Amino acid sequence: MPDDDFGYTPWGRDWVRLAQPLRQTLPNPALPRARKLARLGGVQVTIDGRVVRGVVERGRGTSVACIAVAPMSQETIADIAGRLCGARALLTEDVHRAVTEMGHSPAPVLESVDCSCSDDTGRCVHVLAVFYEMARRVDDDPRISLDVQEFCQVSPDVTRAPTAALPQRWIALNVLNPADYFAVPR
Ligand SMILES: [Zn+2]
Repeated sequence: MPDDDFGYTPWGRDWVRLAQPLRQTLPNPALPRARKLARLGGVQVTIDGRVVRGVVERGRGTSVACIAVAPMSQETIADIAGRLCGARALLTEDVHRAVTEMGHSPAPVLESVDCSCSDDTGRCVHVLAVFYEMARRVDDDPRISLDVQEFCQVSPDVTRAPTAALPQRWIALNVLNPADYFAVPR
């Protein structure tokens, strides 16, 4: 189950699920270690486009985990954008629930996972720690999870896409400044 410190919003919980998939039933002893690393500030995350890079210090060693996130589908972008009208659109739990119920889950999909350590399973403690650190950050600001999926960098082609299927209040996202557009629920 989600740790109290990680994934207290559904947006952050999507990242906890990357570390703790629902299909995984056996306890994974690396998970508590990964949570501890994230909780104690042992993970320094930088985000560049769709790549999350985490420098993880553990003991005397430092490992670098790189996680590439797939772009969000146009349908999911349209669905979320359609629910975010208004001057102070909020990425609330209701928005998350509504788009998920429409089959447009905003959960990140991974393109590739790599770590500098000797474990090449893509599930080493460093990668898991980066998932938790991202969950913590996304809980604080859900925009991070959308940004890393290129929510606000859709091409003009996307905004011209099937307008009949989109709400009339559709706004070309690439003309918006995300900082003005979203507010963070508190
Ligand atoms: Zn590693």
